[in-house]
Amino acid sequence: MQVLQAIVRCTFKSEKMEEMADTMRAAVLHGKEDLRVEDVLRPVAGPGEVLLRVDVALTCGTDLKVFRRGYHAKMLTIDRLFGHEVAGTIIELGEGVKNFALGDRVVPLNSAPCDACFYCKAGQQNLCDDLLFNNGAYAEFIRIPARIVSKNMLKIPQDMPFAHAALTEPLACVMRGLEQSEVKPGQTAIVLGAGPIGLLFIHAATLMGLNVIAVVKRLDQVATAKSLGARQVVRVSEVDDPIAAVRALTPEGRGADVVFEAVATPEAWQWAVQMVRKGGMVNLFGGPPAGTTASFDTNLIHYSDINLKASFHHTPTTSRAAFEMLASGRFECSKFLTGKAGLEEVPEVLKRMLVRPAEGIAPEIKTIIVPQQSESVGVEESERAVA
Ligand SMILES: [Zn+2]
Ligand SMILES: [Zn+2]
Repeated sequence: MQVLQAIVRCTFKSEKMEEMADTMRAAVLHGKEDLRVEDVLRPVAGPGEVLLRVDVALTCGTDLKVFRRGYHAKMLTIDRLFGHEVAGTIIELGEGVKNFALGDRVVPLNSAPCDACFYCKAGQQNLCDDLLFNNGAYAEFIRIPARIVSKNMLKIPQDMPFAHAALTEPLACVMRGLEQSEVKPGQTAIVLGAGPIGLLFIHAATLMGLNVIAVVKRLDQVATAKSLGARQVVRVSEVDDPIAAVRALTPEGRGADVVFEAVATPEAWQWAVQMVRKGGMVNLFGGPPAGTTASFDTNLIHYSDINLKASFHHTPTTSRAAFEMLASGRFECSKFLTGKAGLEEVPEVLKRMLVRPAEGIAPEIKTIIVPQQSESVGVEESERAVA
């Protein structure tokens, strides 16, 4: 579609010479672990759309999954532009765009619901039958479809760095999980997993007044989880019985009010159910590969009156909640932004993410991709940020 628009534009313009230069550098996914940064036609903004200069894109676990598998059932297939966490500057306004102007700094979400189907009307826009996805963050420019412009694109305040704003999408998914779990200040929450999503849960739940117990695998994750607010951290390999060890840390040993599973393995799903208190809430947030099954003690779930949830994606409401939390100044964005790289390095960065570093070396949480080398993105360098 983007290519088609660019071709149409070329035929209508008279200055043929410049048209040849209407390209941009972009990462294109060709298949399993086959991502190449290439010259592609630069998109143009159609009616209701905008064209952004990409100031920053962020790496994400979902991109890594897609990179490894070579496809995503809903988001994109092969030979497509890639990357979905992005913040940038409007450099082209399509016909009829209201509420935005050239030069606005914005963060577009990676999807927008139709607001007309059964699910949208039921307040489950994350399950929209016609959810419109947009990819192409790992590029110099990105076209934002009209529906996202009108429903799911937010203006970034002047004092907020692009890289902080780009955390809106992953945090919006986490906010959906928190919203659906009906969390309240003072509750005890267990977070299983300390990858980027687990860490976002730890920090967001802490800021919402919950007492967080983190369950982690790696030694480096103990310090990271604590620095983001976890009151207690249990490292799985250091205890005989992780379930008993974690329950012992909850009030009166009764289990947590809410458990967030962010590991995406059957074992973690099973642990989550055994760590919650009677009448508590389990949110099975991590999505294991298709075909995975897990088994549960039905007696435990029934007689303990356990609530099971599995939140997916985000809604325009949770996107705004995430953005507000990031802009509030309370959210320690820079702790999540641990690396920095140029556009040409994206394939290398993703390849590196597939290999876990040795014990004791912390893996990157999020790498900031800066396609426009000359632009200042206002990134607060964290201590671990790589030049
Ligand atoms: Zn993401
Ligand atoms: Zn819908």
